This record gives sequence, structure tokens and C-alpha cells, in this order.
Amino acid sequence: MAQTGGDESEAVKNYFNTVGFERWRKIYGETDEVNRVQLDIRNGHAKTVEKVLGWLYEEGGVEGVSVCDAGCGTGSLAVPLATRGATVSASDISAAMVGEAQKRYEEQIRWKVAPSVPPKFEAMGLESITGKYHTVTCLDVMIHYPQDRVNAMIDHLTSLCDNRLIISFAPYTIGYAVLKRIGELFPGPSKATRAYLHAESDVEAALARNGFKIVKREMTATSFYFSRLLEAVRE
Ligand code: SAM
Repeated sequence: MAQTGGDESEAVKNYFNTVGFERWRKIYGETDEVNRVQLDIRNGHAKTVEKVLGWLYEEGGVEGVSVCDAGCGTGSLAVPLATRGATVSASDISAAMVGEAQKRYEEQIRWKVAPSVPPKFEAMGLESITGKYHTVTCLDVMIHYPQDRVNAMIDHLTSLCDNRLIISFAPYTIGYAVLKRIGELFPGPSKATRAYLHAESDVEAALARNGFKIVKREMTATSFYFSRLLEAVRE
């Protein structure tokens, strides 16, 4: 059942430290212990990650580039960035998720040459991240933010960012809103947190207010996964 009211960010943290951790560790993994819907989400999410890695490659690669991956989950982006030579600071509100990211990184480098700068993994909400990074990434985290917290989220992420911000979110369109409503009518174990869709124009306006201009856009849509991906650079 959806957890509503109260401290929503605490509810998200609890979810991703418990039942959500088990669910998303599988979805973001490689084993076949996933159902049809989870497999579809896994494949959709992998496309988003591939697109980000493709953009970064086209733009000269990440060797020596400082990257803050906010809400890193199990490290689907942070780990390949680190093994490609970025100086990665990866954090997540869930200690279980970021612990899994660290474990996956360690498994990855076991038989390979480790990057010269090992990534830093930390359990913390993105509002607590400090410092300045060439690139900030934040994939599929905004879905956990109600509209009234999104502006502050984008203000904070842009303040960490010297050059570019890569961010993805579930876009608000009438079609997706209807699909989401239909999904909510069928309660199941996956409905443990609320999911929020966001109008692209609102996200774009928040970026513009912070002096960021969108230079790349992508959309990944499978049957159960919808994610708008934006790259914005400081003007
Ligand atoms: N970015 C990762 C990826 O694409 O593989 C994970 C995406 S997963 C759907 C959402 C993640 O956001 C979860 O790991 C959750 O714990 C994290 N999260 C949610 N709210 C957060 C917050 N306020 N600060 C940091 N992480 C947060």
C-alpha cells in the first residue's frame, strides 16, 4: 500500500532499505529472478544508462572528470563511469542501495585493472551532497519527488554542477498519467512508494532559472518504463 503524508523522504529511504531494496537489486541485476514487468523495466532502464554513457563518450569521455551521481541506486551508472576513469562520488539515501553499488564495483574490478581514483560511496540524501563536480548525474530519482520539492531538488543539483547536469524523470503526459492511474488501481507489492510524473516544461524552467540550457534530450519508453533524459549545461 502507498505510504502517504508524513516525511515522504523517510518513507522512500525505508522502502529502499527493505522491500524496495530486494525488488530493485533484482531489477537492476542480471539474474533471471524477475517477472515480465520487472524485466521490461530492467531493459528500459539499461537503455537510459546506455544513452548517458553514449553522450559522455561522444563528448570526449570521462577520464579524469569529476562526477557526482546523486541517488546512485545499485551503481548502474556510477560503476561504469568509475571503470571508465571518472572520479566518481556516488550517494544514495538508502544505505542498502549504495552498499550494493559498492559491492558491484568491487566485483567489477576484481579481475580488471582498478581505476586510478576509486569511487567514493556514501549513504545520504541528495540535499546533503556538498562540493563542486564537473558533471552531476541523477537518473530516475525525481519520480520520488512531489512537485513541491522538485524546484529545490534542481536548485541543489545545479549548485553542485560546474558544467553539465544529466537528469531523467518520468514525464507527465495525459497518456502516462492515465497509465499510472490504471497501475494504481491494481495494488501489489511494488506500490510501496508514491511515484510522481513531472511536466518537462517545469523541469526545463527550473533548469533555466539556474542558468542551465538543455542541449540533449532523449526518451526511453517500453511497456512499463518511461523516462525522459536531459543533458543541461551551464550557460
Ligand atoms: N539512479 C539509479 C539508477 O538509475 O540506477 C537508481 C534509480 S532508483 C529508481 C531511485 C533511487 O533514488 C533509489 O536508490 C533511492 O534510494 C534513491 N533516492 C530517492 N530519493 C532520494 C533522495 N532524496 N536522495 C538520494 N537518493 C534518493
